[in-house]
Amino acid sequence: MPEKISFYNTMSRKIDTIEPIDGQEFKMYCCGPTVYNYAHIGNLRTYVFEDLLAKTIRTAGYKLKHVMNITDVGHLTSDADTGDDKMLLAAEREKLAVLDLARKYENAFFQDEAALGINRPDIVARATEHIQDMIEFVKKLEEKGYAYIANGNVYFDTSKFPEYGKLSGQDRSELKHGARVEQDSSKRNPSDFVLWFTSSKFGNQILQWDSPWGRGYPGWHIECSTMAMKYLGERLDIHCGGIDHIPVHHENEIAQSEAFLGHKWVDTWMHAAFLQVKDGKMSKSSGEFLTVDALVKKGYKPEHYKYFCLTSHYKTAANFTFEALDSAKNTYESLISKIREFKRIAANDASENSEMVEKYIHDFNAHMFNDLHSPQALAVMWDAVKNPDMPAKSKLKFLEHVDTIFSMSLTKVINEVEETLQITDEVAKIIAERQDARANKNWAESDRLRDELAAMGILIKDMPGGEYQLSKIEK
Ligand code: AMP
Ligand code: ZN
Repeated sequence: MPEKISFYNTMSRKIDTIEPIDGQEFKMYCCGPTVYNYAHIGNLRTYVFEDLLAKTIRTAGYKLKHVMNITDVGHLTSDADTGDDKMLLAAEREKLAVLDLARKYENAFFQDEAALGINRPDIVARATEHIQDMIEFVKKLEEKGYAYIANGNVYFDTSKFPEYGKLSGQDRSELKHGARVEQDSSKRNPSDFVLWFTSSKFGNQILQWDSPWGRGYPGWHIECSTMAMKYLGERLDIHCGGIDHIPVHHENEIAQSEAFLGHKWVDTWMHAAFLQVKDGKMSKSSGEFLTVDALVKKGYKPEHYKYFCLTSHYKTAANFTFEALDSAKNTYESLISKIREFKRIAANDASENSEMVEKYIHDFNAHMFNDLHSPQALAVMWDAVKNPDMPAKSKLKFLEHVDTIFSMSLTKVINEVEETLQITDEVAKIIAERQDARANKNWAESDRLRDELAAMGILIKDMPGGEYQLSKIEK
């Protein structure tokens, strides 16, 4: 029996308990990156959230199909179809072909994800590989009377979709007064958006395809509806993104999808709040732009940033400072030291307490099943780590569970320690010789043999009563 899971739904504005619509498997779609630059650590906070969500759902005993898109065409600098073409601008800057640029940053994105312990979604769909599907989608919207052509572009007519604005709670008249950067005079209504660009201002757009409306390329919003439906069907359980998607991108996705389907599309909408720096939200165009690589160059591990992410709830804005990252680093490293200590103890002490492990797993999961409260789940983790009555072996078992959701290399460290403690005949011989040397008070020989072990990466620590402990020497 799967466990009860509840998450905050931006649409219902409350925490909803959810089950798969089809009774079998959750269908989840997450808006992916626009691959025109490296992902900054703010973008990655959103993907950390989505990965926590996927792992939590699976831990609760459900099946899940997780789909994410890669935007490699069509995203303009403003989500509302104004400004420059992000990909074109970057390709010019880097003197690369647009698709080479896209692949470069897609690869970099997945490397960053892996460094943060984020699993690749089950399906990753590139916009440029689904153009025909998008054309079919737009054709049907046109047939149903939701689209119009103006000045060569195909637009979605939001006045035909009375529920437009239901996610963000704005109605279309409010949107008229919204701070739009520049108005497109071809639109019938300010909230209308482009489904297909033909006579756009980007005459130099390299990626163009034939369509019933002329050669051109798709708008940004249509790709998500098209690919979500292609891989997940007509009903989605969960759709995720960052909070910036709520007022435009996700409203547009809802309008075109529900117009296309004639029924409700998504049950639960979930959005991650921003990572902020002192000047406001971290963004690619302004303020401080930090990547995982930049943090590594400054001497941090990706795990330190992962730990930092876990210390705040996904719906709360997180303030990034190096002081906060240092604090996450110190806490994480003290956890790693504890793990090494537990491993050494467990090597000589086989006692276990499975009830304690189960209780801690239960408490840890309960916080995650309740809208992904990772800070509280971390508190449960530390309670176990510091519990003097919990056997070291059981602590390690519990921490392995923690790592199945938090993915911050704890299991790797646990296994690494095990590997290094595999004592070869040669090591065993040196240890025996050293014990003899110590029994004979031959300290010089004992020190020489200790150095020999150190050269093999093994630290030997003498304990009272002639006992000793072995551990791996960190490089
Ligand atoms: P983009 O590649 O610009 O389309 O953005 C990728 C993802 O990062 C989207 O889900 C955005 O909502 C999210 N995002 C952008 N800026 C931030 C930020 N400062 N903090 C958290 N998420 C962000
Ligand atoms: Zn999207």
